[in-house]
Amino acid sequence: MDDVFVSRGSVIRVCLYAVIFLLFLELSLNFSVHRKTYKMVSSSRRILTTLEDVSRFSLIVNFSDPCGWMQNATIRDLQKIRDRGCKPVRVCSSSPSELVGSLATYKEAPSYKEMIKIYPLVRPGGLYTPPDCIARERVAIIIPFRDREEHLRILLHNLHPMLQRQQLHYGIYVVEQENGTQFNRAMLMNIGYAESIKLYNYTCFVFHDVDLIPENDRIMYDCRDSPRHLSSAVDKFKYKLPYPQLFGGVTAIKRAHFEKVNGHSNKFFGWGGEDDDMFRRLVNNGFKISRYQASLSRYKMIKHLHDAGNKANKRRHHLIKTGKGRYRRDGINNLHYKKLGIEYQYLHTRILVSINETKVMTS
Ligand code: UDP
Ligand code: MN
Repeated sequence: MDDVFVSRGSVIRVCLYAVIFLLFLELSLNFSVHRKTYKMVSSSRRILTTLEDVSRFSLIVNFSDPCGWMQNATIRDLQKIRDRGCKPVRVCSSSPSELVGSLATYKEAPSYKEMIKIYPLVRPGGLYTPPDCIARERVAIIIPFRDREEHLRILLHNLHPMLQRQQLHYGIYVVEQENGTQFNRAMLMNIGYAESIKLYNYTCFVFHDVDLIPENDRIMYDCRDSPRHLSSAVDKFKYKLPYPQLFGGVTAIKRAHFEKVNGHSNKFFGWGGEDDDMFRRLVNNGFKISRYQASLSRYKMIKHLHDAGNKANKRRHHLIKTGKGRYRRDGINNLHYKKLGIEYQYLHTRILVSINETKVMTS
């Protein structure tokens, strides 16, 4: 009798443990889900750290909405969209009626926590798809970056509303170079190209200095038949183009064109020269550079000192002069870097990289 009693007792105990264990499992799973949600709404940075996180988040969006797949639709999907009764069914305009023209730029920005509330339609990683129309192309905005956190916050506060009014399908990629080495703006832009197309099939690139704030939303961040220099009138230069061959600051170029010229050169460490080299690359490959009229393409540069890790490059004139012989072997087909991490933050994707100057200069 005793034995039976004992074994019945242990069965009950085992069941109890099992229930407690299951409850614990359920609670901890819930907790992690809640913790993630909590992190999503409350944390300013470092939110979704892996691609799986992002795709899981996107899946949640997709499953709850039978037309959720629309967020990745392209013009080629127009018929499918019509057949399935999903909105939108029109192609976005190349000059949307929402544009207002001249902008009162923001010189300061709220915290990321607040900006997340201001821009609820921006998806993690700084991605956006117009809700009412199908965008003509997919634009990756690539920002070369190091140690300019405040500039970046201000730029994002200015860019997101403008790009949304422009009805673009876009993603913002900040390519950050690790400390301790000379800055290499052009190579970071090449890396932005290479990393962003791994994530999405972008057709257009806008390369964007972190400190240039557009003053007019009719400066379209899209790509046309020729590469375009967008920041031709900057307040720092009294809104005058310093010289006709300038191709620095903010530029827009089709993916096919960028690939045709093998991207930017990787050899420009420190300040200067890389933009002039790119101008020559494009022109030598038969492209004509276009610009908006100066009264339209106006930018403010956020005031800054020159950075210790970005000293004027003494070899830049020599590199430009000898550049032509290197186009075919110095660019996106010869890009050596170490990716240290990628973070899908609320208003942008951050890619941290390490560049070895000696290796790049000898490869
Ligand atoms: N940059 C950066 N950190 C640096 C140096 C440069 O983020 O330490 C990036 C940033 O996007 C900046 C661009 O490179 O706008 C061009 O550098 P900088 O503004 O110093 O040159 P400028 O065009 O003002 O002469
Ligand atoms: Mn600057």
